[in-house]
Amino acid sequence: MRALCWEGADALAVRRVPDPELRNAHDMIVRVRRSVTCGGDLPLLAGRIPEAAAGEVLGHEFVGDVVEVGPDVRRHRVADRVVVGASVACGACWFCRQGLLACCDNGTSGGAAEPEWGPPTAGCYGRPARLGGFAGGHAEFVRVPYADVGAFAVPAGVDDDRAVFAADAAPAAWHGAELGGIGPGDVVAVWGAGAVGQLTAGAAVARGAARVVVVDEHDDRLRMVTRNPGVEALNHRYVDVLAELRERSGGRGPDVCVDAAGPPAGPTRWPTGEPDGGVALREAVHACRKGGTVVVLDGGAGFVDRFPVGAVAEKGLVVRGGRRAGPGAIPELLDRMARDELVTEHLATHRLPLERGVDGYALFRDRADGCVRVVFTP
Ligand SMILES: [Zn+2]
Ligand SMILES: [Zn+2]
Repeated sequence: MRALCWEGADALAVRRVPDPELRNAHDMIVRVRRSVTCGGDLPLLAGRIPEAAAGEVLGHEFVGDVVEVGPDVRRHRVADRVVVGASVACGACWFCRQGLLACCDNGTSGGAAEPEWGPPTAGCYGRPARLGGFAGGHAEFVRVPYADVGAFAVPAGVDDDRAVFAADAAPAAWHGAELGGIGPGDVVAVWGAGAVGQLTAGAAVARGAARVVVVDEHDDRLRMVTRNPGVEALNHRYVDVLAELRERSGGRGPDVCVDAAGPPAGPTRWPTGEPDGGVALREAVHACRKGGTVVVLDGGAGFVDRFPVGAVAEKGLVVRGGRRAGPGAIPELLDRMARDELVTEHLATHRLPLERGVDGYALFRDRADGCVRVVFTP
């Protein structure tokens, strides 16, 4: 089959790779209808994940048709149209039984990140062994392990370009709003106007926030943000963000600050003097009101130094992290999509055949031509 592969730092190629096969009784094979780019993969593309090996099939957000099921798969049949959650979780280990599917003990094949993180977390499609080593969705076919746990039938009225955002972007955003405990009357600030930031703002509005402000430096993205009723935008380049946020929150600072700016640019191993990242996180900690909550949605694989831990303690902040909720939240989001309460297809600013995957990622990485996300069709 054809697939978009990582070939080394900043080098991608669409090429022929072996077709996936069932390996376990709970696996199924999906023929991909759509897959979409994600900023969470940019550190991998840039060659900053040490374990990455040339030939990894990229992509962790996809929707497709079931073409083969293992004997233990109960919830899916051949020809079902499904969306597959980005996290690979077993559904049965201690963590999965607590509902912490993204922390699954069994969904990952390796402990490559143990020196930095401790025990491994759930796997992720299209990532190296650190996150499971599962071939990704920028391909014609994908093996889906634990199919009954991670894949969900797409309602007939939800088209592929909307459903593909239920794989990761929407679950991450709604998880962020939940981790922040966002409720009626809250003032919420979100750093990052990419797909996850925009969807987090929408989730905050849906949960009754009084005021939602998205911070970014790209005017084209911020114009998209303000098309969501109830969402305001701040551009770093023109305004003093901290002063503006105080002004818009009765002088206190936002109740909830969500860092949805994507992985920081910092190192992925214990720091050795590489450039620092984490600008959005530092600003979120600074801006947040005393006793408020800061949510970190994607730390990538990385580290951030010069972290203002003093402010966290002195201001009594709650800091919560969550790359994603795991697949558990997907059915509710698909229901919202079916009722047109959750609209996502406009985030696919560009649509290309998978054969043009290299061009698509260049566009996405450079945020060229107003690009938010690129959807690929194999
Ligand atoms: Zn993603
Ligand atoms: Zn598990």
